[in-house]
Amino acid sequence: MVRVVPKEVSEETLRADIERYKEIALELGASACEIIPADWVSVDERVRLKCFVPRCPRVGESPNCPPYTPGTDEVRRALIKYQWAILFKINVEPLSDYLISQSRTPAERRRILHYHRKTNEVVSELEGLAFRDGYYLAMGFGGGSCKDYLCNGLVCQFLDSGRCRLPLRARPAMEAMGINVFELITRVGWEVYPLTYAEEDPSSIPCAISVGIVFIH
Ligand code: SF4
Repeated sequence: MVRVVPKEVSEETLRADIERYKEIALELGASACEIIPADWVSVDERVRLKCFVPRCPRVGESPNCPPYTPGTDEVRRALIKYQWAILFKINVEPLSDYLISQSRTPAERRRILHYHRKTNEVVSELEGLAFRDGYYLAMGFGGGSCKDYLCNGLVCQFLDSGRCRLPLRARPAMEAMGINVFELITRVGWEVYPLTYAEEDPSSIPCAISVGIVFIH
């Protein structure tokens, strides 16, 4: 049920709501989830620049990737206003799903995109729940390019004609907003490895994860 937007949210209500969102994230398939102070999130110009150096094939291919995403100054000024965020991860299991051969077969691409799509689903769901509970500024980011995990590599309809195919689902990746994802993950105590899709042997990868975040209030 939609709640009336209160003048002020009590700490008790906020805490109870965020705990509930955490439980829902786990029910929706997150492997782990943490409630974090929003000021644990740092925005770094170098992260956004890494979309260009070396150049990601999706740069400029959708409005949710640089150079179309908001600049780091704007993101920093906005995120500093939040108090709490929910960070979650989805483990890539089995790890062989992470491997993509030189030929990048459609089946391999589908396997890895599943994790970004799932991350986007959890982000969208939590953000929508929080919005309807009165946290109308709730805002979430996932991982990867919506051109891949939502549009299966088709031409971006927003850039082509101004109408996104899935406007309520498509959103930028954390890294596309300049969020230092690796730093944040290590801060909460999760393992993260600097992997590339060029890894050839699943036994050489300790773990692979897809990560999303929702700023609540
Ligand atoms: S049309 Fe597809 S690629 Fe373009 S913004 Fe929407 S979801 Fe992303």
